[in-house]
Amino acid sequence: MSDWRIALSDLDYGPDEEAAVLRVLRSRWLSTGPEAEAFEREFATFIGTRHAFAVANGTAALHLALLSLGLNPGDETIQPAINFVAAANMTAAVGAVAVFADIVGLEEPTIEPVSIEQLITPRSRAVIVMHYGGYPCRMAGIVELCRRHHLALIEDACHAIGARFTDPQGRTPDGRMAGHLGDISGFSFFSNKNLATGEGGVVATDRDDLAERLRWLRSHGMTSLTWDRHRGHASSYDVVGQGYNYRFDEIRAALGRAQLAKLAANNTRRGRLVTMYREGLAELPGWIIPFAQWRGSSAYHLMTIVAPDAQARRQVAEALKQAGVQTSLHYPCIPDFAGFRHAVSREVPRSRDFAARVLTLPLYPGLTPSQVEDICASVRAAATRQPMASRWG
Ligand SMILES: *Cc1c(COP(=O)(O)O)cnc(C)c1O
Repeated sequence: MSDWRIALSDLDYGPDEEAAVLRVLRSRWLSTGPEAEAFEREFATFIGTRHAFAVANGTAALHLALLSLGLNPGDETIQPAINFVAAANMTAAVGAVAVFADIVGLEEPTIEPVSIEQLITPRSRAVIVMHYGGYPCRMAGIVELCRRHHLALIEDACHAIGARFTDPQGRTPDGRMAGHLGDISGFSFFSNKNLATGEGGVVATDRDDLAERLRWLRSHGMTSLTWDRHRGHASSYDVVGQGYNYRFDEIRAALGRAQLAKLAANNTRRGRLVTMYREGLAELPGWIIPFAQWRGSSAYHLMTIVAPDAQARRQVAEALKQAGVQTSLHYPCIPDFAGFRHAVSREVPRSRDFAARVLTLPLYPGLTPSQVEDICASVRAAATRQPMASRWG
């Protein structure tokens, strides 16, 4: 519940999710078990990966991805300056160093392949990409450069569940999905994501060697789960390495199965709303709509617009707030956070410019066309109003 007339995001929860929770409560098994196993199978089938491990959240998924690749203290990972801070934090958690690359531009705020290549040093071990807003990065070039420089490729696919790889012509040549384009990937099921379970995530890979490690890393380094012992598949266990408790539980796994069944239709609904937004906001002088020319696949996680300057963004965000419409900022530039100011990094001017001007508008499957029109009208009115008189002028 919120006081917003139109919130930034809302769940698509109904009878399927209620039935899922009841099914688990009546089964009397709450920790990782048959629902989690079924969810992992269904998720792997959906994304197309050989392996999918359900874990506590998306941050844990990224942590496990880095651990399974065996990153060592001092190793460098090249990652976008415009991202949620989880990948950078987990890089630090394994003792590695995050090096920040710039984005392609304001119209395409995903990591730029040339910017990655310029940051490669003998200490580089991995590239982390993030498919901003649900739009896949320039993967053809990134996959090629990772291969050439022997770098692991990690996808932060938290925005992009259900999006497919798109070539420069906007085609989806092999139909591969985001999260199946590198060595390993992380997904999040936080409550504002396209698939929501409150907290939750998946780490997915085709590589059997990484899967082998993920299996024990997520549960204390132990070779069997309580569930295996409960159903008589194991009576004891060994501890083969230092692991964590990043397990998923049955209630959220059951919610995840219900949400996965709705995902494709909900992504399509999001796409239709994005088209409406683009029409409603076209030709606002000085404003840019990221991915407006995009012809490829997307999961349509975020609807963002870029103001002519920070002052214009403030003016529109304030007007929307007065109208009861929630907005957000995805994201501040990571190397500008106090905790990352020491980061060894090149200049990222396009990322800084984007962070100063981007504004996120409401987007979720249950948003109605008339609400989108209403929001567009408020944005247009506020964006074309004369700038607020400066108090010096
Ligand atoms: C949500 C998100 C995460 C973190 O996921 P949690 O489940 O909240 O830990 C990481 N990266 C991106 C891009 C995200 O949007």
